[in-house]
Amino acid sequence: MHEVDMTRCLLQALEDWRDQHPVQPQVGTIHLLVGEFTCVEPSQLQLSFAAAVKDTWLAGARLSIASVPLVGKCLVCGNSYRPNPTSGYASPCCGHPLETILSGRELKIQRIDYSRPRICGPPVQANPCSQPTPSFVDPSPCTCPPATP
Ligand SMILES: [Zn+2]
Repeated sequence: MHEVDMTRCLLQALEDWRDQHPVQPQVGTIHLLVGEFTCVEPSQLQLSFAAAVKDTWLAGARLSIASVPLVGKCLVCGNSYRPNPTSGYASPCCGHPLETILSGRELKIQRIDYSRPRICGPPVQANPCSQPTPSFVDPSPCTCPPATP
């Protein structure tokens, strides 16, 4: 269920992105960053996405999902740590409950590989988009960069 809602938000974000282009881009692969703490099951999201884009302008587009580990910060001792569900996500050093999440809640489009159809004029090279696009869901105000795995 959750993934269906996520897919709807994702498609909306992709349509907004498409509308910024004078010519409809041909989308190849959409690279997503999905945090471990978002309750999104990547395989479910893949299925939901594949079903949703059938017979649309995004038909044939693929999702590439990179997982972002959950990292918390203990406000008592200042340490960053990987919260563990079995210990209630508490700080391993002092047992303080998890209050601040540094990463693991992101759900965003990292990159879109696409090509622009040629209409006239000089040939246009297939141009992978390197512009980061905004989060399509903003589950937290955290602006920390994702932790490198
Ligand atoms: Zn601590």
